[in-house]
Amino acid sequence: MINQTQDGLSVVLDLAEGLDGLTAGGIGATGRPMPNFPQPPALTSHGPARIIAMCNQKGGVGKTTSTINLGAALAEYGRRVLLVDFDPQGALSVGLGINPHELDKTVYSLLMDRSTNVRQVIRPTNVKDVELLPANIDLSAAEVQLVGEVAREQVLSRVLRPVLDDYDVVLIDCQPSLGLLTVNALTVAHGVVIPLECEFFALRGVALLVETIEKVKDRLNPGLEIDGILATMFDPRTLHSREVVARVVEAFGDQVFHTVIGRTVKFPDASVAAEPITTYAASHAGAYAYRLLARELIARGDAA
Ligand code: ADP
Ligand code: MG
Repeated sequence: MINQTQDGLSVVLDLAEGLDGLTAGGIGATGRPMPNFPQPPALTSHGPARIIAMCNQKGGVGKTTSTINLGAALAEYGRRVLLVDFDPQGALSVGLGINPHELDKTVYSLLMDRSTNVRQVIRPTNVKDVELLPANIDLSAAEVQLVGEVAREQVLSRVLRPVLDDYDVVLIDCQPSLGLLTVNALTVAHGVVIPLECEFFALRGVALLVETIEKVKDRLNPGLEIDGILATMFDPRTLHSREVVARVVEAFGDQVFHTVIGRTVKFPDASVAAEPITTYAASHAGAYAYRLLARELIARGDAA
């Protein structure tokens, strides 16, 4: 435990002591006063889902890790969650213990074959209240095959519609590109969460992503909003991480989540175990960080 309470940079590590110890007033890892995000109220009914696209055309920034762990944290708070694997690499599916190469039906079947029903493709996971729409490498063909479709940007929207009332939150794990699949995710989404790795080139490409989001908002999905920018792989011990976060806050202000995800090997470890960190290491700082993110989203009104 590093003690830097003066500038509050130990917040990520201090989270291990529990969320309720994190009261309003202290300076958070983003350099702003940390609000108190209360324990979310229990829901008395479910749905319709708010849909969030986890999006950044850069790979390795924490999209898949955030999809799994935010989803699991929201489910801990009693939310019904659907996770959509929208990356042909299938890392989300693998990270939830499903071997996507053995699957007969995936999100690809749904997009390409009108006789496939979304309920035939959704699978339970080992995490209570978290269900998965899996993907595998087949999905890589969809990008090309969808080009000739009518309303090619709205295919995901059409196929998800029948189940939206069953969930409180749908998280879409986008592939690292701004192609047609990602445009489909942005077209069905209510909000976008942009994970950014705390390293030097983090902001490179974000302007293009924001431009793409604006275009989709303008032409296809007027209600689309950026829910927030999530700093990931933050190392409070390095000046570098702190500088990157400071620059991101300078550029995006209050769009940056107060919650910051620390860098820890527990995340890859949890992926190997095919579990979210919230069950793999339930009292680890990384698990608290995603619970805090779930609370922040709910407090902002970006999730039920
Ligand atoms: P993306 O989906 O954006 O490509 P991933 O979520 O797959 O990114 O993360 C890339 C790699 O970094 C994975 O090996 C993952 O386990 C690891 N990782 C993700 N978040 C963290 C973190 N906070 N600390 C350490 N490693 C992380
Ligand atoms: Mg990924």
